Amino acid sequence: MAQDQPPKQIRVGVLALQGAFAEHIILLKTLPQVSDAVAIRTADEIAQVDALVIPGGESTTMALIAERSGFWPALQEYVRTHPTWGTCAGMILLSERVTSGGTINNDQKLLGGLSITIKRNAFGSQKESFEAGLHVAGVENSEVQRFPGVFIRAPVIDEILAPEKVEVLCQLERDYKSTPKGTIVAVRQGHLLGTSFHPELTRDARVHQYFVKMAIDWIANNPKSA
Ligand code: GLN
Repeated sequence: MAQDQPPKQIRVGVLALQGAFAEHIILLKTLPQVSDAVAIRTADEIAQVDALVIPGGESTTMALIAERSGFWPALQEYVRTHPTWGTCAGMILLSERVTSGGTINNDQKLLGGLSITIKRNAFGSQKESFEAGLHVAGVENSEVQRFPGVFIRAPVIDEILAPEKVEVLCQLERDYKSTPKGTIVAVRQGHLLGTSFHPELTRDARVHQYFVKMAIDWIANNPKSA
């Protein structure tokens, strides 16, 4: 039966409430396994896609817009059951707990799903942005040709709350100011992927490729959820 076959192509949505969504759409459209990449702003639109990217931007603003427009419950339900990748602010939204300035912030609205604690703005302000070569486990050839990680007011993963469920994909290979070597900047937990950095701001589609393959494999193994 056709529907028992794993999909060869998927339709990917990019949350487009705020932030760097257009750049994700451009890169996703270059991948042969992506039949279409579209901006998502409503519950009707999100129901049409197989997987979702939550871009970088401002996590508090994105949550506020989703809540005010009534989209938050559908977004939260979608993320619980579909492959989703959060970059930077997107990863903050997928986390269970956030600290800023050393204290836990219980007021920030989160989608959750990634069993991690996030430290927001770990490297300081916008002018502290930098690029770091990264080896991301599973990302093609990145052990030889490092992936160009762009960090802009980036969060880091401070604590893994469920080590048996969370796979660490990438750690910093040297100190960056007060953020030490070994700090975790990419994780995967089942159908969820989180990266501190912004692959959509490079011309290197390898992390997008990784996510799309991860989503296709996950859908093939969890056909009822997709
Ligand atoms: N500092 C932003 C936040 O807390 C994230 C920055 C980014 O996405 N580039 O939401």
